[in-house]
Amino acid sequence: MLKPYACDPKQSRGRRYPQAAAPTRNEFQRDRDRIVHSTAFRRLVYKTQVFLNHEGDLFRTRLTHSLEVAQLGRSAARELGLNEDLVEAIALAHDLGHTPFGHAGQDALHECLRAAHPPHAGFEHNLQSLRVVDCLEERYPAYDGLNLSFETREGILKHCSRRHAEQLLRYEPDGVGRRFIDGTQPSLEAQLCNLADEIAYNAHDIDDGVRSGLLALEQLDSVELFAICRQEALAEFGQLGGRRLLFDTIRRMLSRQVYDLIDATGAALVAAAPPSPQAARELPPLVRFSAAMQAQSAQLKRFLRHNLYRHPQVIETTDRARSVVADLYAAYSGDPAALPSSVALSAKPHRAIADYIAGMTDRFALREHHRLTGETLFP
Ligand code: MG
Repeated sequence: MLKPYACDPKQSRGRRYPQAAAPTRNEFQRDRDRIVHSTAFRRLVYKTQVFLNHEGDLFRTRLTHSLEVAQLGRSAARELGLNEDLVEAIALAHDLGHTPFGHAGQDALHECLRAAHPPHAGFEHNLQSLRVVDCLEERYPAYDGLNLSFETREGILKHCSRRHAEQLLRYEPDGVGRRFIDGTQPSLEAQLCNLADEIAYNAHDIDDGVRSGLLALEQLDSVELFAICRQEALAEFGQLGGRRLLFDTIRRMLSRQVYDLIDATGAALVAAAPPSPQAARELPPLVRFSAAMQAQSAQLKRFLRHNLYRHPQVIETTDRARSVVADLYAAYSGDPAALPSSVALSAKPHRAIADYIAGMTDRFALREHHRLTGETLFP
């Protein structure tokens, strides 16, 4: 069923620590299973997407978001003849490096590291996801990390600065940092996960935004994609209103985007006809929306940025979340005895503290913050 440009587990570039093949699973299925059984994966359930984890039980968390990305990605992969198992593994791991409190936590940690003495290059969540699967998981007797295949690790490292890519190449000369120097693309499966990620969060942030009361349905009619899908739902079910109208609208938005992606990408693949996954990496990105959907998706993102991510109530919470992370960093670097004995501070204390904080769930970070400062920032 796989097209010639799909990643084939039998042709995998392998693992950093070579291992015999599993009796019943291919290499990418094995990666997926290792990810699902990891500690970092279980932590995703208590990590924020946009709304803090304690604000409500029905909001997306990093875990449910990752499952939605895997579902959307697999549907499209099957249709395009790409490798579903690889898409699933990348999707489930793509957010493992996220700090507590979403982007606010990441920004705060980045600033702490930049201000450290000696200054540190900073914090990137994509690089941290790779660090989780390469170094931080402690599950196997013979090595650190999950020892995933090259193709899964390549997909996890979605962005990387040149400086960090050069650092990675020192340890792994032709490894996953290479493409950021050469300016090539990751596999088509990785490209698909990136777009599935966008489709997932653009749709679920609308759902969560309305659920939280921060977005009103009337406002959403200024978003072209939403307005089209809402009219379509009303044309089919004239009496529809309230929650069911919202859900049916979002369902149609998801379908439209996924079908558009499949059509536009399918056409690009036919036109470029890459004879192998490696040939596809050397072409411009082939996984894409049509120009019209690209414009609608960009408009949707702008809408969410202005009306949800920059909503005064969201900003107010994220400002407090930022202080939690900055206070934790200051407390641990000022008094390393406050860290658990499992955190080894030896060579790079800033990095070890950042790894420890990045691994925290929202609620654990709040408990630690209370323990160390006596303050309660989120009553
Ligand atoms: Mg994501």
